[in-house]
Amino acid sequence: MTKLKIAVQKKGRLNEKSVELLKNCGIKLSNGSNKLKATAKNFPIEVLFLRDDDISQYVEQGVADIGILGENEVWERDKNVVIKEKLGFAYCKMSLAIPKEEKYTGLDWFKNKKIATSYPKILNNFFKEKGIPVDIEEIGGSVEIAPGIGLAKAIFDIVSTGSTLMMNGLKEVEVVVKSEAVLISSPKINEEKQKLLDKLLFRIKAIRNASENKYILLNAPNSAIDNICSVLPGMKSPTILPLAVEGWSSLHSVVKEDEFWEVIDKLKNLGAQGILVTSIEKMIN
Ligand code: ATP
Ligand code: MG
Repeated sequence: MTKLKIAVQKKGRLNEKSVELLKNCGIKLSNGSNKLKATAKNFPIEVLFLRDDDISQYVEQGVADIGILGENEVWERDKNVVIKEKLGFAYCKMSLAIPKEEKYTGLDWFKNKKIATSYPKILNNFFKEKGIPVDIEEIGGSVEIAPGIGLAKAIFDIVSTGSTLMMNGLKEVEVVVKSEAVLISSPKINEEKQKLLDKLLFRIKAIRNASENKYILLNAPNSAIDNICSVLPGMKSPTILPLAVEGWSSLHSVVKEDEFWEVIDKLKNLGAQGILVTSIEKMIN
């Protein structure tokens, strides 16, 4: 039987969420991530646990059919792979930072300066596009110590809270790109595997949709229903059910997570009462 081979990170920031995503897709893995491989009983899939540095290459070569990794790694490796879906976790930004006592004057500050990074390709593309010549020093890790030991004038690296920068006397001055985990695929997988991939993507989208939306229930006087419906778009339109109390109805709908608080305020002002909000597990459009 054909199996879809998926590469996920063996250990690190992506591992847990990647395995959890598969689990939420209803895929039960037979053994833990301490092994190199795992299979599932209820889906024709084989999971390969690898370093995220290698995933792009293995997918390009067909060792794995698909993979989960950070966009930053996809861009840097620049292999022949296709991004199929953004996954909504492992968010980070990649920024330029300089010693905090330096006066930053804009991107020209970097002209002909040495910048240390583990992501030379992304950085080179960025400055090439801006038409600013810079001297890129590629190093494997601990990039943030480079200015302190005189290896470079600035750094380009992944930044989340900025506390590592601060501890090393650096300040973030430009955000170059933002990244999140993505699902990649080889551009040439056979028809059978493509079908399996479509099935998996269908499930992933249902989970992503669900996590971006909330289910909302509320009570309202019938006179307020029209106005309330105009702020509650719903999947098609809100469900309206009469309450036992004369002149009142219950409305059910779906609201986007990021519009949620704004919508709640409007609903309250329009006379909605007893508002209940719950998360959605799966949502099929
Ligand atoms: P591996 O051993 O697999 O090579 P790694 O050390 O390269 O692991 P991690 O530190 O586990 O990688 O990070 C994996 C990915 O998580 C990064 O490439 C990036 O996309 C994402 N990420 C999100 N937030 C951060 C962060 N604060 N620092 C580093 N990476 C982050
Ligand atoms: Mg890595």
